[in-house]
Amino acid sequence: MTDVPYEEWRRRAARLSPHTGHHIGGAFVPSRDGATFPAVSPRDGRTVADVAAAGAADVDRAVAAARRAFDEGPWPRLAPADRKAALLRLAGLVERDRETLALLVSLEMGKPVAEADGIELRALIGCLRWYAEAADKLIDESPRTDAASLALVTREPVGVVGAVVPWNFPLTMAAWKVAPALAAGCTVVLKPAEESPLSALHLAALAAEAGLPDGAFNVVNGHGETAGRALGEHPGVDVVAFTGSTEVGRHFLRYAAGSNLKRVWLELGGKSPNIILPDAPDLDAAADTAAWGIFFNAGEMCTAPSRLLVHRSVAGRVLDRIVDRARTLAIGDPLDPATEMGPLVSARQRDRVLSYLEAGEAEGARLRAGGPPPGGDVGYYVRPTVFDQVKPGMRIAREEIFGPVLAVLEFDGVDEAVRLANDTDYGLAAALWTSDLSTAHRVSRALRAGTVWVNCYEEGDMSVPFGGVKRSGNGRDKSLHALDKYLDLKTTWIAL
Ligand code: NAD
Repeated sequence: MTDVPYEEWRRRAARLSPHTGHHIGGAFVPSRDGATFPAVSPRDGRTVADVAAAGAADVDRAVAAARRAFDEGPWPRLAPADRKAALLRLAGLVERDRETLALLVSLEMGKPVAEADGIELRALIGCLRWYAEAADKLIDESPRTDAASLALVTREPVGVVGAVVPWNFPLTMAAWKVAPALAAGCTVVLKPAEESPLSALHLAALAAEAGLPDGAFNVVNGHGETAGRALGEHPGVDVVAFTGSTEVGRHFLRYAAGSNLKRVWLELGGKSPNIILPDAPDLDAAADTAAWGIFFNAGEMCTAPSRLLVHRSVAGRVLDRIVDRARTLAIGDPLDPATEMGPLVSARQRDRVLSYLEAGEAEGARLRAGGPPPGGDVGYYVRPTVFDQVKPGMRIAREEIFGPVLAVLEFDGVDEAVRLANDTDYGLAAALWTSDLSTAHRVSRALRAGTVWVNCYEEGDMSVPFGGVKRSGNGRDKSLHALDKYLDLKTTWIAL
């Protein structure tokens, strides 16, 4: 894929004809009232397609289809091995259409096409296969009780799952909900972000082709305040699995409280600290990873190491290397194979990030790299940005920016570093660089985060859970633990 030239990518992109309806009950349908919204590409601000925009009536139709498929349809009643086979067929079709899906992701949200293929599609296929394989390995329990009775503890699918996801990894985030929910025997209504409906719709078409029963997997497109809210408030939805901002996570808790008390699983934002101690095994590697971590995916990463806490004695060396990387990173069209960092997802997101650059300077941080966007008005680009002399109370040190903006704070002692690291409302991830085993254990225990990386960043595997604490959320995606979100424990007593 990497040897396809730029011109050819552009030709292939121009030939795409994306699906644009909602996918409900096994077929593409328009909105009841005919409403649409433009799917705009951040690479040039042009509309790729006009996509059906769901209102409450469309969400109701999708939930009804999922409800029927769950209450009366074959999916929850299939032998687990048959659900596994269907999900493996879906993974195979994704593999077949890998390039189309990668192009759709790249066009709709601006990820370099090689990363869309190498990271996003790889994650989607891996996740579908992993949960497919798990589907027929779930075992129920029969605890030992008294001799006159038999107790069975069975794991029952919870019902209809509403999955609401963001645009930064549109297919991976969807897969982390949809794959375990389907493997568990639930049916699903997915609402992708309004910035990234096209890849999700293609996935729905492949699910139908793979032979998933009608209504088992539905996709409704549209805005958060309408489609997302209608799903959150719908009494026919048993569980909401949400990934997105902390602010919208709060809305889902309110929707649940005001409707049927559906269970709500939240994977939310972050402001992750990355602590570099002077005894890091390789300071240059620590600096390179810090730079990679904050600029990868244009900083649109929930786990981005956006707060670098570096020991004063090595701050100069580490920072020079990061600033150098920021200045040399190739920013450009995500369809150009030479591009290392594409645009931000939307004009709104670009303006939001630029407002933090103003706030950083206004509050007295020093801009070491970055500044105004490159190259005129075409596309929503922001330069990789580094601020040093950041104080813990500044907005750029406290708020999730979700862009390529690094805030650097210096410290003198390990305890001070831990205090600074934990001085945040968030608790998604944290990292530490040290050669001392005791320090590694002591500090990783003290850090309040769902994931702590020692001498690495963004390590992950399907078998390892992922999620946050504090205002970064509650549930865990990935691993066998994620299946628990989509399974209820049912107890049956039988008198013998
Ligand atoms: P967002 O919260 O604005 O939107 C996420 C989803 O919620 C979208 O589908 C959107 O349409 C919907 N939505 C928005 N407003 C809504 C409302 N009022 N009611 C119902 N639904 C609504 O987030 P985003 O801008 O798409 O994504 C960025 C956020 O996602 C960041 O905070 C990032 O940290 C977080 N994120 C977290 C993880 C994780 O695993 N913890 C992973 C990726 C992204």
